[in-house]
Amino acid sequence: MRVAMIGTGYVGLVSGACFADFGHVVTCIDKDPHKIDRLTRGEIPIFEPGLDDLVARNVRGGRLFFTLDGAQAIREADAVFIAVGTPTRRGDGHADLSYVYAAAEEIAVLISDFTVVVTKSTVPVGTGDQVEAIIKRTNPNAQFAVVSNPEFLREGAAIEDFKRPDRVVVGSDDERAQAVMRELYRPLSLNETPIVFTGRRTSELIKYAANAFLAMKITFINEMADLCEKAGADVQQVAKGIGLDKRIGAKFLNAGPGYGGSCFPKDTVALVRTANDYGAPTRLIETTVAVNEARKKAMAQKVADAIGSNDLRGKTIGVLGVTFKPNTDDMRDAPSLDILPALQAMGAKIQGFDPEGGHEAERLLPGVDFKTGPYEAAEGADLLLIITEWDQFRALDLDRLKILMNAPVVVDLRNIYKPGEMVRHGFTYTSIGRG
Ligand code: NAD
Repeated sequence: MRVAMIGTGYVGLVSGACFADFGHVVTCIDKDPHKIDRLTRGEIPIFEPGLDDLVARNVRGGRLFFTLDGAQAIREADAVFIAVGTPTRRGDGHADLSYVYAAAEEIAVLISDFTVVVTKSTVPVGTGDQVEAIIKRTNPNAQFAVVSNPEFLREGAAIEDFKRPDRVVVGSDDERAQAVMRELYRPLSLNETPIVFTGRRTSELIKYAANAFLAMKITFINEMADLCEKAGADVQQVAKGIGLDKRIGAKFLNAGPGYGGSCFPKDTVALVRTANDYGAPTRLIETTVAVNEARKKAMAQKVADAIGSNDLRGKTIGVLGVTFKPNTDDMRDAPSLDILPALQAMGAKIQGFDPEGGHEAERLLPGVDFKTGPYEAAEGADLLLIITEWDQFRALDLDRLKILMNAPVVVDLRNIYKPGEMVRHGFTYTSIGRG
């Protein structure tokens, strides 16, 4: 099959490369010349484990192309995917659909033979109807069907998630479109991946419901962590104790500084707005959003408490990890973007390290001095703050760390160390939910 992928970001590039790896011929289109230029030179503009090899292999195989001008690829495509961003719209919290609608207009003038237009971007319920109306209005003779096919991949494990998903959701009542989608995802039948065919509006809502549920699960265990701290209990054992119950499940029960990233924060807020528009408010999600926002801010106070003062002038804080999670360079809505400015406002000087996020973080976190490694970030610090649980932070040489630091104080927002071990090494150690 011939695929045109509009938007070559975290989702479009991974999906495009994986479809090419399935044997389809894929053209990835982006309007960002810098991105396309890098991709054409064989460079990968984002950090995603395994993506460089996957892209190189499929470019060599003549199945994967990159272009600024997608006209020909769209004309020839069996399926045109829209994988552009849907960030929060300024002012009201709704999803900003301007990129999606612009892509729909670009597609409309180019399609002639029957084409499946697939929305892979996360879009509010009813967006497919709008995309369909735009294409009909722009090109009344176009033969097409609009399908919703939300993406559930996680950054950091995106290729594995795309190739071995728990399910694929396809929202369309059009039989020809369903057949094209079945063919596109046919390689997944080897793993017996369920393909859930639904109506388009249902499919759009499934994506938001999934993200809102996961955000709620994280927020639930974070609140349990606060209670554990006060009550002298251990949230990790609580998580284990409830997670073994198959009705609950063990995933997304790691207490931490609050969820961030490119999806949960914007999607929960957008779902709240949509639900209010339909007169069916989602109180649980409203509360989840509010609790999570407050939590990110409260983390700075946790650090100040560990130092023993809200006046952090003259104090240096070493920071390990600033991306919203490990194995990505994505800084969108990372908790560090709330925590570090709050500490700076209390007067702290901050020096940090992140294996992949440093470059983007330097722009987003002015005044933070980015170092070349974890020990360099700890050197001379009055406190070491672990925000992101990159593997390389999990087994630091604690004796070396202690010698390097000005004071042996660690705040671990990801619980990657054991309290007893830290105390044995002479650290004052604060973690999450281990009272
Ligand atoms: P991104 O910002 O990384 O990439 C979007 C790309 O689209 C950019 O490179 C931009 O230049 C390009 N673009 C915008 N308009 C264009 C146009 N008209 N023509 C060509 N290119 C255009 O975004 P992302 O993280 O890949 O997310 C894309 C969508 O997928 C969003 O709706 C997001 O919610 C959803 N999603 C993201 C993830 C994730 O982990 N990032 C997971 C699941 C779903």
